[in-house]
Amino acid sequence: MSSRDFVYGKFSDFYSDPSTAIPPPTLLSQREVGFLLFKERIMLRHKVFARISDLRLFLGEAVPSDVYRSCAYYENPAAEMDKKGWLGADLVFDIDADHIPTSCNRIHDEWACSKCGFSGKGITPETCPICGGQKFDTKTWPCELCLKSAKEETAKLIDMLGKDFGFSYKEMSVFFSGHRGYHVHVENEAVKTLDAMARKEIVDYVSGLGLTIKGGKARVRSAKRHAFRDFSLHDFGWNKRLKLGLQNFLLKATKEDLKNTGIKGKAAAEILGNKELILKRCVEEGLWGSVKGVGVKTWKKLAEYVKDLESAKIDTVVTTDTHRLIRMNGTLHGKTGLKKVEFPLRSLEDFDPFKEAVAFKEGTVKVFVSDAPEFRLGGNVFGPYKRQTVELPTAAAVLLICKGRAEVAS
Ligand SMILES: [Zn+2]
Ligand SMILES: [Zn+2]
Repeated sequence: MSSRDFVYGKFSDFYSDPSTAIPPPTLLSQREVGFLLFKERIMLRHKVFARISDLRLFLGEAVPSDVYRSCAYYENPAAEMDKKGWLGADLVFDIDADHIPTSCNRIHDEWACSKCGFSGKGITPETCPICGGQKFDTKTWPCELCLKSAKEETAKLIDMLGKDFGFSYKEMSVFFSGHRGYHVHVENEAVKTLDAMARKEIVDYVSGLGLTIKGGKARVRSAKRHAFRDFSLHDFGWNKRLKLGLQNFLLKATKEDLKNTGIKGKAAAEILGNKELILKRCVEEGLWGSVKGVGVKTWKKLAEYVKDLESAKIDTVVTTDTHRLIRMNGTLHGKTGLKKVEFPLRSLEDFDPFKEAVAFKEGTVKVFVSDAPEFRLGGNVFGPYKRQTVELPTAAAVLLICKGRAEVAS
């Protein structure tokens, strides 16, 4: 049996199984549904389903490798793009390891320009540095560390959406994407009709884009001695985030950490030697000028650095696109055979994608693995493998085949 037929068969079993749960999105009949077909490798778009039972029937017959639905609501979802009659869209965020710089991406991620073949390791560039091409063949891995980073970014995003934008936990949903990240959806009447520009403003806020931190030299002669006119942080929004961020950073900061922010020499020594005083007098009480040798310039550098730590690394394009198709909850990801799954916001910290998203829980299969790093799935650890035949649980075999790292052994 070819590897593709094997995976197709597993996906087919999954979608035909009546016990497979596919929770319908709100107002399914107003959404556009799209599919990527296994065999033809083409995208079917502009589909509409009145009921989830109709969609399930279709999935069982067509067996797509990927299933998407629009974030938008339409009068006529099946019409051509400009005739759909846009009624609104949920606010969606995509946090993907592809956009987060991690220390491991240079180990497990590779890219090659489709046009000129130039290749490299780590995060795929937007344009090829040699020919300017924008299409790449990529080889990535849903690695534990990368998913942990994606989860941290998701936590920051949810915190901002809750505290700074005032969305309730009821209005937000969080999902594992089935591959290398998380999705956050906000469904509420106020966001529904926001246009692309308004959504861009939200993107800028959560990613800290355009946030300027005041800086200069002047010291205020005011009632509050040791306060700066050109550096101060109040207790709301980003100001508060910077303040808490500074606190966290300074608590643990080493000489090396400070060097990363661009602070060396006397200023660094002053900070490291007066940590408690700085945390109390400066950060807590706002008397930023109360430690000699730590001036506006230093604070500005620190704040800029902390801004990067506190911002949420999202895929900005996804949020601003008001016609975006996003993977449907409960369906399989064609690159992994894992499910997109929703979980309670409160369990973000404990959520384990390598357990909760496993779809194929029975049987084993013999595969020839060309190359795979060590990985964990469904409570077991596998690999690393290099050019060897192994018998694996179905889910692990499907993952390796979908990632192009293994073939069914004959
Ligand atoms: Zn190129
Ligand atoms: Zn990684």
